[in-house]
Amino acid sequence: MSQICRLPAGGRIDRRTRLHFTFNGKRYEGHAGDTLASALLANGVHVVARSWKYHRPRGIVASGVEEPNAVVQLETGARAVPNARATEVMLYDGLVANSVNAWPSVDFDLMAVAGFFARIMPAGFYYKTFMWPKSFWRRYEHYIRKGAGLGTAPAEPDPDRYDKMNAHCDVLVVGGGPAGLAAALAAGNAGARVILADEQNEFGGSLLSQRDIAAVAADPASDGSIGGASPMAWVTRAVARLAAMPEVRLLPRSTVFGYHDHNFLTIAERLTDHLPPAERKGPRERVWRVRAKEVVLATGAQERPLVFANNDRPGVMLASAVSAFMNRYGVQPGTRAVVFTNNDSAYRTALRLVTAGIEVAAVVDSRRAAHGDLPERVRKAGIEIIANAVVVDVRGTWRVAGVDVMTLDANGTAVTEPVTRIDCDLVAMSGGWSPVVHLHAQSGGKPQYDANKACFVPGASAQNEHSAGAAKGSFMLGDCLTEGEAAGSAAARRAGFTAAAPSFPPTVVDVVEEPLVPLWVVPSPKGIARAPKQFVDLQNDVAASDIELAAREGYQSIEHAKRYTAMGFGTEQGKLGNINGMAILAQVLGNDLPATGTTTFRPNYTPVTFGAIAGPDLGESFDPIRKTALHEWHIEHGAVFENVGQWKRPWYFPRKGEDLHAAVARECLATRNGVGIMDASTLGKIDIQGPDAVTLLNWVYTNAWDNLRIGRCRYGIMLDENGMVMDDGVTTRLGEDHFLMTTTTGGAARVMAWLERWLQTEWPELKVYLTSVTDHWATASVAGPGSRNVLADICEGIDFSADAFPFMSSREGLVAGVPARVMRISFSGERAYEVNVCANEGRHVWESLMEAGAKYDITPYGTETMHVLRAEKGFIIVGQDTDGSITPVDLGMNWIIAKDKDFLGRRSLLRTDTARANRKHLVGLLTDDPNAVLPEGGQIVGSGNGKERPPVPMLGHVTSSYFSANLKRSIALALVLDGRGRMGERVRVSMPNGSAVTAAIANTVFLDPGGARQNA
Ligand SMILES: Cc1cc2nc3c(=O)[nH]c(=O)nc-3n(C[C@H](O)[C@H](O)[C@H](O)COP(=O)(O)OP(=O)(O)OC[C@H]3O[C@@H](n4cnc5c(N)ncnc54)[C@H](O)[C@@H]3O)c2cc1C
Repeated sequence: MSQICRLPAGGRIDRRTRLHFTFNGKRYEGHAGDTLASALLANGVHVVARSWKYHRPRGIVASGVEEPNAVVQLETGARAVPNARATEVMLYDGLVANSVNAWPSVDFDLMAVAGFFARIMPAGFYYKTFMWPKSFWRRYEHYIRKGAGLGTAPAEPDPDRYDKMNAHCDVLVVGGGPAGLAAALAAGNAGARVILADEQNEFGGSLLSQRDIAAVAADPASDGSIGGASPMAWVTRAVARLAAMPEVRLLPRSTVFGYHDHNFLTIAERLTDHLPPAERKGPRERVWRVRAKEVVLATGAQERPLVFANNDRPGVMLASAVSAFMNRYGVQPGTRAVVFTNNDSAYRTALRLVTAGIEVAAVVDSRRAAHGDLPERVRKAGIEIIANAVVVDVRGTWRVAGVDVMTLDANGTAVTEPVTRIDCDLVAMSGGWSPVVHLHAQSGGKPQYDANKACFVPGASAQNEHSAGAAKGSFMLGDCLTEGEAAGSAAARRAGFTAAAPSFPPTVVDVVEEPLVPLWVVPSPKGIARAPKQFVDLQNDVAASDIELAAREGYQSIEHAKRYTAMGFGTEQGKLGNINGMAILAQVLGNDLPATGTTTFRPNYTPVTFGAIAGPDLGESFDPIRKTALHEWHIEHGAVFENVGQWKRPWYFPRKGEDLHAAVARECLATRNGVGIMDASTLGKIDIQGPDAVTLLNWVYTNAWDNLRIGRCRYGIMLDENGMVMDDGVTTRLGEDHFLMTTTTGGAARVMAWLERWLQTEWPELKVYLTSVTDHWATASVAGPGSRNVLADICEGIDFSADAFPFMSSREGLVAGVPARVMRISFSGERAYEVNVCANEGRHVWESLMEAGAKYDITPYGTETMHVLRAEKGFIIVGQDTDGSITPVDLGMNWIIAKDKDFLGRRSLLRTDTARANRKHLVGLLTDDPNAVLPEGGQIVGSGNGKERPPVPMLGHVTSSYFSANLKRSIALALVLDGRGRMGERVRVSMPNGSAVTAAIANTVFLDPGGARQNA
């Protein structure tokens, strides 16, 4: 018979819609509105998993994201989802799920043998056991890795699509329970743009688990009431009001999974997971990247388990989950229950059990007495309350068969005989409530321990954030609504709106509750170490004894104890286990809980799929490919490309039969002896305008810019705060307040962000405006002795004579009929001109230059030739000859450091370590054998005589190395310890084959040291 544990009525499920699903190969039936967990329970499936370490049978414990056991492998093949929590998976027709951690099945798991050795496999077992023989580690590792983890990631590519959305709002409300709804209503009524996100499939929060409308209408006080009606009636009206507000966006099935600086939050919205695969259309998930002016955190609270022997047996559940399964899903989780609690809220569950027709054998309450309204109601319902008592053990392996109850002693720290055995198949436990404070913590807030409520509550807000309701430790419904409304109004006001009166004045009937008495671990007659496992973290099989052992072995910081025991790993992330674990550690160490502290809440507290994180940025879209305006021409002319940052740049242009070396040798010779042309469009270009442009340049470059005349160009070096070279390039003064800065190709975005960062954060008073114009211009660099002739042939309005157009100057005119900026600058050491035209005209101008240059045998060249030509001149490439640890002094460029002005990185240049004389210097290397080309990155291991005894001194490394066809020999640049003090000294450079090549330390400039060629 199917659905043998379905209650005859009630719940928020649609009983008319029957859905079929398969779990561990067996077919079951459920209803629309079920989760996989509720449908399994409705079918009487109580063992849903095996535990991770000891392979103990495990059942469903919770009803929401905090579920530690029912972690399943959902679907198969490419659509398989590992580690899905059955409590979060909405049932659909045809769903297929399987247990993890069990082989061959959950009912017969061979690895369950581990359970017999549980006592000798405590925390740290792996670290201690698999040490010897040392050489066996690789083998151990293979099997440990195989046994570790939960589900299996699909091996095939994900067929689904994922989306990303950027949004701004005035108020983001996280959590759609009563507090969140009240906050959203208040902010929405004030006219604010509101986003309300809740991870469940419908709004209402914990009210969804209260009794249904009809039941509550008969007895409103039992489950609270709002405005005289059931809380869910209020929820329905509130959601309808919000849906009608044009500025409010409702996001159900949406988990806020990260709270970052500047009120930037990320939300994972599940769009189609609740539908059968065949009906899924459009993206599967969408990640919202939200910048909110104000944030209201109304994330509720999670019930804490109690820590007692064998508390992991299937049938031991959180009291709130028992309520949820009965009231929300119409499921009968057991036939005879024991409620075990240290607070009043579980008494509601006892009453709900009775209403659902489930026998309650007793309420075991660890407090000395239970006299509140709710215990009184329970007594009236004829349920026995055993006060000052605890459940010390659970009978049954596959399902709870009964519990052993003992009385607490006068101190409440030990138990006394006799043992009372109570038969039952369900234990509803409640150890109190933990506000969900992880987003508050991620925002920079520090949760504080509230001894009265025995939980961590949010501390002072670090950003524009307000916590409300159970998330703030206010558990009464009336308080949740009042606080939510106040937080929503305050948020709207701070975002610039006038908050109106709430539209649903909430008159709430609450039942007064007696205070909770903390119970972190139930005393066992055998003591913690010898008691049957008292689990703290069910998912990671961490027991109270493991935490005690960790403390004994010196792991006294909670962060260390967590790592030693694995507490809070996996999808658990400390939701159920951590507070109990921290309290047990504190107890063992004799500390108080606040002193022990919390572990860090990192995103993602609730798992987010890799698909959602990657979004559409996959395959070709993973990293944009940038092509210059001349890209097609390069392809047509046989260019071989290389990636430089995101750009595709021609590396070399081989002719028939040529390899890289032959092509580069030809291109180098042609450029030095005739004329070459290179596509330089990828150089970063930043247009700088404003009256303070010179000040900005003075502060970001090491040299002075005040005296640069209009129409002149100057080379500059930029340092980071540590005084290390971060970029270089030539900047041209186009007008009094107008400059064009060029940056390295790969560094363009970084430099732009760097300048903006300083302007926006430290120097907002500067009147300077930056515009990235890299893509707007196509740039052809025409270099070589013949360059002037080529340019002069097709230019109008520019006098190219040496006097009229000297080196390091800029002119404007027409090139091939197109307005152009022509700069006479050179990275090759030759007479050279960079022709900049509007990108759309780039190809026309390039082809015109090729045509005009034909009679001078103009030769296109790529980045490799550019590298050789610049190395012949000793010109550096930032990122190749520097690595973030090199100063301009190391490069021998003291001439570029102004003495009489401030600039970024200046003070760092004076630090003892930066200023010491014997740092690594950039030098040239000339191999003894002119044909030997050193490997870039090759280590310089010692003097050239090869007689040092190991370990040989490591002097530095080769940064650039080429064969120069012009010089008919190899050349290299290298960073060498005290290099300038070793001029002429011979060193050895290791080769990949283990041999060494000897070379002499030389000047970095190998060709035309006087610069006659570029000035000609
Ligand atoms: C100790 C205790 C005593 C109580 N006593 C009473 C009582 O006397 N009377 C009474 O009527 N009720 C009582 N209640 C129940 C009370 O109704 C709830 O505490 C109340 O509903 C909490 O409201 P909330 O909006 O703060 O949180 P919840 O209703 O729990 O709502 C929180 C919502 O936030 C969502 N959420 C959490 N994290 C995220 C995230 N990262 N992204 C998106 N969504 C998220 C959750 O899905 C949930 O829907 C009690 C509860 C407790 C715990």
